[in-house]
Amino acid sequence: MSDKRVRTRFAPSPTGFLHIGGVRTALYAQLLAKKHGGIFLLRVEDTDQARMVPGAVENLCRTLQQLNITPDEGVWLDENGAVTERGEHGPYTQSKRQAIHQKYAQELVAMDKAYPCFCTAERLEELRQTQEITKRPTGYDGHCRNLDKQEVQNRIANGEKHVIRLKLPKEGSVTINDVIRGDVIFDWKLIDDQVIIKSDGMATYHLASMADDHDMAITHVIRGEEWLSSAPKHVFIYEAFGWELPVFAHLPLILNQDKSKLSKRQGDVAAEDYLQKGYLPPALINFLALLGWNPSGEREIYSHDELAELFNLEKINKAGAVFNLEKLNWLNNHYLRLLPDEEYLALINPHLPAAEQDLEFKNRIALLFRERLILPSEISVWSEFFFADKLDYSAVKLNWKDHSTNEAIERLKAAKTWIAELTEEQEHDAGAIETIIKDKIQTQGWGNGDTLWPLRVALSGAEKSPSPFELIATYGPKRSLARIDEALAFLLK
Ligand code: GLU
Repeated sequence: MSDKRVRTRFAPSPTGFLHIGGVRTALYAQLLAKKHGGIFLLRVEDTDQARMVPGAVENLCRTLQQLNITPDEGVWLDENGAVTERGEHGPYTQSKRQAIHQKYAQELVAMDKAYPCFCTAERLEELRQTQEITKRPTGYDGHCRNLDKQEVQNRIANGEKHVIRLKLPKEGSVTINDVIRGDVIFDWKLIDDQVIIKSDGMATYHLASMADDHDMAITHVIRGEEWLSSAPKHVFIYEAFGWELPVFAHLPLILNQDKSKLSKRQGDVAAEDYLQKGYLPPALINFLALLGWNPSGEREIYSHDELAELFNLEKINKAGAVFNLEKLNWLNNHYLRLLPDEEYLALINPHLPAAEQDLEFKNRIALLFRERLILPSEISVWSEFFFADKLDYSAVKLNWKDHSTNEAIERLKAAKTWIAELTEEQEHDAGAIETIIKDKIQTQGWGNGDTLWPLRVALSGAEKSPSPFELIATYGPKRSLARIDEALAFLLK
């Protein structure tokens, strides 16, 4: 396998939104391909037409591309946002590969590795009920496994409805070699003769996916662990055709904090919801990559490129990985802080009041709260007081501890003169403002607390806020003075 070019795939069924766990699967497939200078492709598995959701393909491509998990080959969204395909192993949409799947199914029948089955839904239902009543394992009883060849031909010629099933061994065992789990042994007798072509002529996942993986020269099948129990059927198909097996990697589940399977009930599972909320692609990538895999143990921050350099399937944990939202939040805050100012401001701006026309004022506010934000939308709560017409001073005390109101008035009046004296260079420089004001306080023989508290509350109307120096620098002198006048009017009332 080592001399072959690595080719991985993500093969979602477009039956709704893209699950965050699916993004991790896609990411791992992309990282492995990138690491080896290989190809990552996207194949749409839409053989179950009844479960198709309109727009789901666009949606999943868009989400992947926003996260920079853009396929090198297969289905993708072009510059105009239209679903299209590229590559030489197409079509990459399974419903367009029906004839290919049919051909493989017929070959399996010809090799006696599969057989047409005419059992009706009623018969199968009766069978299931009898098995349940008699406490036998449920499953297909092989009724059509050994029908006379001529009879089969006649019934098909008569247009009788049928499916095609794999003719799996009934004894012995099969060993699946999984990179993550090692050898996993399955007893053939516990595995049902799987339907590979449905009565509507469409292939099921088991045939379609294996045939396509082979035709698309996939070297590594990276998929969710729910498929591990189906792997024997898949290996059977590969071996029936004499194809070289791909490397299998069945990824562990993603779990809620209480160790249950990650579900909608406990939070968001749709990847696009995270993007819409303002989680940044590099934060999501960093977070998802480390969900069940870690190259070292200590380090938490990795860029997409670094992940691709370090990635390996062998270090993926067998155990389920707990989805820790706090860690994602921490990462998002980290990546928000790393953004170039211009990008950061563009993200924050839509969350500030459109009615406020002073863009520089808004930008100063955005930068002031940068360190504290987990999500861009939080800025609206943090910054509310900056935009309020009037602050409500009745809810907080303007005077410091047991100091008098008159003293607060005196301090605020003095602060007004200090602010009015700021030069243009100083007026938005919190550091300079701090030095000047602390100096003035000292000259007056006042305390920091009894001066800075009334000043800060006058500017914010709140118990807690950034320092008065940061507030003055952010407001600018004019707005600062107006706020202090507002507080004085309240105190002098
Ligand atoms: N269509 C399958 C799914 O969405 C793909 C599984 C696989 O990767 O083989 O679960």
